[in-house]
Amino acid sequence: MELPNTKPSGPSRNESLFQRAKQLIPGGVNSPVRAFKAVGGTPRFVQRAAGAHFWDADGKRYIDYIGSWGPMILGHGHPAVVEAVQAALLEGFSFGAPTEREVELAEEIVKLVPSLEMVRLVSSGTEAAMSAIRLARGATGRSKIIKFEGCYHGHADALLVKAGSGLATFGNPTSAGVPPEVVQHTLVLEYNHIAQLEEAFALHGNTIACLMIEPIAGNMNFVRASIPFMKRCRELCTAHGTLLVFDEVMTGFRVALGGAQSVYARSIPGFKPDMTVLGKVIGGGMPLAAFGGSRQVMEQLAPMGPVYQAGTLSGNPVATACGLATLREIQKPDFYHTLSARTRSLVTGLSAAASQTGVPFCTDSEGGMFGFFLLDQLPQNYATVMTTDSPAFNRFFHAMLDDGIYYAPALYEAGFVSAAHTAADIEATVSAAHRYFSRM
Ligand SMILES: *Cc1c(COP(=O)(O)O)cnc(C)c1O
Repeated sequence: MELPNTKPSGPSRNESLFQRAKQLIPGGVNSPVRAFKAVGGTPRFVQRAAGAHFWDADGKRYIDYIGSWGPMILGHGHPAVVEAVQAALLEGFSFGAPTEREVELAEEIVKLVPSLEMVRLVSSGTEAAMSAIRLARGATGRSKIIKFEGCYHGHADALLVKAGSGLATFGNPTSAGVPPEVVQHTLVLEYNHIAQLEEAFALHGNTIACLMIEPIAGNMNFVRASIPFMKRCRELCTAHGTLLVFDEVMTGFRVALGGAQSVYARSIPGFKPDMTVLGKVIGGGMPLAAFGGSRQVMEQLAPMGPVYQAGTLSGNPVATACGLATLREIQKPDFYHTLSARTRSLVTGLSAAASQTGVPFCTDSEGGMFGFFLLDQLPQNYATVMTTDSPAFNRFFHAMLDDGIYYAPALYEAGFVSAAHTAADIEATVSAAHRYFSRM
């Protein structure tokens, strides 16, 4: 049943819940971006969701372009997924012993992502990326790693780092509580900067365990690694015995059935990464993530090899049921064709609304993931993303929120369209943007 999309009268329950939350939970939230700190205002407390929509604590309906930051590719409460989760729950929540569903999920992932020969299941993207780095270091016997400014790989200590003063120096922590010694092996480079990448390999190549990259970066809005840049990453890693690690926590099963690596393989023949980190969509909204690679590398993991990694809830039976049901739905004929077309209709609609009203705007999408910028040209790196007029973004964000359209509450986050978004949802979204742009 759809509740009417009315504005609340009387005191806002979102506001009173936020006040209560702030008494006991730092910032009132369990993950910082939810607090609306970048855009200001009161976060919406979600009461329930169905399909492409959710309702907040005041009963107001929103078209959801976050989808739990990516996992909800089928929309909320897809019947086949709900049924699988309910059946799994009745069989038990967690055993700490192997189950058939873990094997089935591993088979499914390895089938869909050709670069993977083996996978290990974990519970969050952070855990998967952190474990992939330990494995890369263990497998190569090297300590140094490369990451790129603006890419997010979860909140493990060694990855909370920004560029130092030069290529010979390593990064500086971006969080208090991370000792400088812990990031001294992390080299932070500019995204899409080929000359700098070459220089870094020339200086440090034979001591770099892995290069970790978001191939289509979704944590600085939406920025693609260019084809020549990605090609050079692959060549340099191969030449120096460095493992190329794709962090596809966001892009995996989101931009295409085979992930971003399948998108790059269309332009770079034979292209594949050495290791892949997955999360978000593979859990369908439950805590589930994975990392994998070649048999040779993965067999270095305990209990087979010397690299330790473990988890009480890893491969959880309810989470694997949810993930498996989700992966089965996205393999249906034309799933990505339809999802991509719907996402493109959103971004082309928004672009047209902006150009009709003379607002600087540019946008890009791949599969069910999109980004937009209040800029004239698509940025190629983090520094350019951050040149966006953030007060202008915040005004746009709040105008859309008032109209019942829920975009990410920060200009450096990507957006997501699900299979449940209808042409009517897209149309309503584009008209709201057009109305706002006309007033600007
Ligand atoms: C979300 C995300 C992570 C972290 O995953 P969590 O499940 O939040 O720990 C890592 N890498 C990328 C690319 C992500 O988008």
